[in-house]
Amino acid sequence: MSGPQIDVSYHGAVKLGKDVTCDGFVDGFMYRIQTHIHSDHMTNFNRSKGFQTIIMSEASRALLELEHYDVRRRVNVISLPIDGEYRDSSKCLIVKLKSSHHMLGAVQVAVTTNMGDQLGYSGDFSSPLEDVIEVDSLVVDSTYGNPDSVREYSQEEANLFFREKVTEKIKGGPVIVKASRGTLHRALELLDGLVQCPIIASRKKIGEANVFAKYGYCICPLLELEQPDVRRLRKEGPYIELYYIGEQVPYNREDITTINLTASWVHGKDPFLELSQSSYQIAISNHADFNETLEYIKATGAKMVLTDSRRGNKADLLAKAITKRLGINAKPAKPVLSRAWGV
Ligand SMILES: [Zn+2]
Repeated sequence: MSGPQIDVSYHGAVKLGKDVTCDGFVDGFMYRIQTHIHSDHMTNFNRSKGFQTIIMSEASRALLELEHYDVRRRVNVISLPIDGEYRDSSKCLIVKLKSSHHMLGAVQVAVTTNMGDQLGYSGDFSSPLEDVIEVDSLVVDSTYGNPDSVREYSQEEANLFFREKVTEKIKGGPVIVKASRGTLHRALELLDGLVQCPIIASRKKIGEANVFAKYGYCICPLLELEQPDVRRLRKEGPYIELYYIGEQVPYNREDITTINLTASWVHGKDPFLELSQSSYQIAISNHADFNETLEYIKATGAKMVLTDSRRGNKADLLAKAITKRLGINAKPAKPVLSRAWGV
């Protein structure tokens, strides 16, 4: 390998060579690849709209258009199908996107530069993946970079616990389900046909759910929170209401059960934490765990790995494990605050 390298900027832009950033803006880089729409990957998106050509999956574009209306008409936003390829013949640059199974539209990125270098970024990814990018140098997500972050339960067990808990608690009163974008729609699949009560969500969430349904998710029917007759339903009987993590539930009732679906780690052998008799945390995770991360790295064939330290604080531990267990040259990214614009 020669020439351009991989790096992560202070603001979290993953640099693949001299022309491509992922999930961030750096002045002078012609392309931004948007791996998915979670907020920790959207830094400086508006700035990129003004100065870069932005490439993303078709599903990510459909979700982003719900908030960034200008994306519909922008000629500098290019959407590709999963497994799609973009070629810039003037720069001899090829960009390939493969699914990362992290959320709807989420992708891994592989870039072939004019020097023939194969550079990649995992993005956030789930496991197992049928199709892994093949690269020489890789920037990898370090969310579960700690060797202790090994899942001792299957995702199916976590799903089952969620369904059982909803079925049990809805008999005693309303159930509030809180989750991040992406995870909330997994909940909607799990709730489909589960209970005979209204499932209520905001107009915005229903708009997103419709995009998920368009791309093949089995989304249960939803009632629009903003409708007066739906608000009245809350007083008449049990119901399920959906919120994003961080959103305030604008009322309180003693018989409410709250279930937080966390994409983050739930420690211990069980896929849940019982915080009280009316409050639960369940690990519906969409990230690979530590062992799965090592398996992924091996499958990419990378000879050099940079662990992303901007979106997780275990980059050091992961880099050491990659070197020790896989014999691959690895180090954590060391982003430096620069005076240069966007770096
Ligand atoms: Zn994510």
